[in-house]
Formats: sequence, C-alpha cells, structure tokens
Amino acid sequence: MAIALVVALAVALTAFILRREASRVCPRCGLPSLVQLNSLRATVEIDGRRAPDHWEYYRCGSCGSRLKDHRGEWETPTDDEWSLIIGEDSKGAA
Ligand SMILES: [Zn+2]
Repeated sequence: MAIALVVALAVALTAFILRREASRVCPRCGLPSLVQLNSLRATVEIDGRRAPDHWEYYRCGSCGSRLKDHRGEWETPTDDEWSLIIGEDSKGAA
C-alpha cells in the first residue's frame, strides 16, 4: 500500500515537472521556445461586476518576439509596457 502511494506521488510529480518545463509554441515562428518572464493578476470591472483577470509575458528564445497572453489571445506589448513589467528597454537591456 505504501509503495503504491509512493509510485503514485512520483508519477504525479514527474507529470507536474514535465508540464512546467514544456515551452509553449511561439505564434510567430512556430517553435516551442517561449519563455515566460512575468505574469500579472488583477481584479477588473466589466459591466459593473468585478472579475479576475490575468496576463502572461513571454519572450521567444528562437525569434526574439515579445508576446503577451491575455485570455488566450496573443498580443504585442508596447515598449513602455515591456519596460514597466519586464524591466528592460526596447533593446533588451536591463
Ligand atoms: Zn518565435
């Protein structure tokens, strides 16, 4: 019984690690090279009702694209937004 529990935990942990390390596919170049640099959570108001919202910021390790995932849609962050959220200027310097 204890061995079955240990095996189940090991399988679950391995699946968790593999899922975390799997890079997302870049919508610009199609390669699985996106690296998540930051994410934001906030409460927004839509039609007078409060709701959670979430943004994730990525850079592609292959083509260098800067991307923002907002509700499953890819957007290109402005230079000012990138500088504020990621802390780099438009040339990638910190
Ligand atoms: Zn790319």
